[in-house]
Amino acid sequence: LRRAGWPRRTVGDRRRRQQSQRARGGGRRRGRSLGRRTGLPDPERVREAGRQAIADGHTGYTSSNGITELRQAISTDLKAKNVPAEPDNVVVTPGAKQALFETVHALIDEGDEVILLDPAWVSYEAMVKLAGGDLTRVDLGEHEFELEPALDDLADAMSDETALLLVNSPSNPTGAVFSDEALAGVRDLAVEHDVTVVADEIYDRITYDAEPTSLAAFDGMADRTVTVNGFSKSYAMTGWRLGYLAAPEPLVDQVSKIHSHSVTCAPNFVQRAGVEALRSVETDVATMVKAFENRRDLVVDVLEDHGKSIPRPQGAFYAMIPTSADDVAWTDAAIEDAHVATVPGTAFNAPGYARISYAASEERLKEGFERLAAEGLL
Ligand code: PLP
Repeated sequence: LRRAGWPRRTVGDRRRRQQSQRARGGGRRRGRSLGRRTGLPDPERVREAGRQAIADGHTGYTSSNGITELRQAISTDLKAKNVPAEPDNVVVTPGAKQALFETVHALIDEGDEVILLDPAWVSYEAMVKLAGGDLTRVDLGEHEFELEPALDDLADAMSDETALLLVNSPSNPTGAVFSDEALAGVRDLAVEHDVTVVADEIYDRITYDAEPTSLAAFDGMADRTVTVNGFSKSYAMTGWRLGYLAAPEPLVDQVSKIHSHSVTCAPNFVQRAGVEALRSVETDVATMVKAFENRRDLVVDVLEDHGKSIPRPQGAFYAMIPTSADDVAWTDAAIEDAHVATVPGTAFNAPGYARISYAASEERLKEGFERLAAEGLL
């Protein structure tokens, strides 16, 4: 974790903090636990499809890349987003994380250069380092987390030596949705330098004031894009572990080797529940997105009331809030004094911020902010 950028903390640090907390009479959780999962539940129709699949005996291995019915449904879904992926272009994985891991390991060798757009989701750096790649980072922090104004910086960072660029829109941790102009800029650079791009679009159904375009839908991108997506966010199926990648066939051939020799396949009955999710639960998705939008507005408004204005997130369910310069100390205080869990910006290579998730009820979000304010953290 340290190699992946997490700050080093010692047992001594923790003991000192616990001692000072005890001295102030704290140390026990106040009120209701905030550790409980409070996101919205997975749709009942999906649960039923999973139960039925088990009852029908769909519990054995499947073909490694996934059952045809699901790859067909994914292909149809991608084509609706103008991504020209056939079922043979799809590898179904146990979670989008596994799809990203397999992609990075298939494409990156020792010393290969990989570009990340910061703030970047925590696992990208770890995956690239595990594959032996070298990171080049482009900071969007100075541009309110937008990509378009940072295209010159991306142009400076990219060269014929670049092996891979990772783009995540809507973004975890910022909630930014990159504009078509920004993505066209990425396309121009990727084509110029013959770079493969991973488009992590796992939050593409959770957007508010923006309609994201898939990167692979841009002219010239279908042959050089690995589109990653999954069921954890759009269908609230986090624990089912279901995701996929769609890529040009030569790349699918390489990824499939890692896939079959690591996980074999995604669980059979889970894949069948995934077919049901893609088939029937758009209304549940719309309800969920509306709930997230209300929470997003609440988060932005409450922060504004406390004099912290942030770029309004357009997708996903996260926001980056400015903290003290030492964001790790701030997040330590948030969890230990206010009992509010946040993630230090440092983990996303964005010190001076903390990421909050608003996959929690409005009531609990308000309570969380009240606690942070009471501890002088807002
Ligand atoms: N990509 C991003 C940007 C994420 O935020 C996450 C989960 O937090 C994932 C991928 C992995 O999702 P999954 O649960 O499908 O592995």
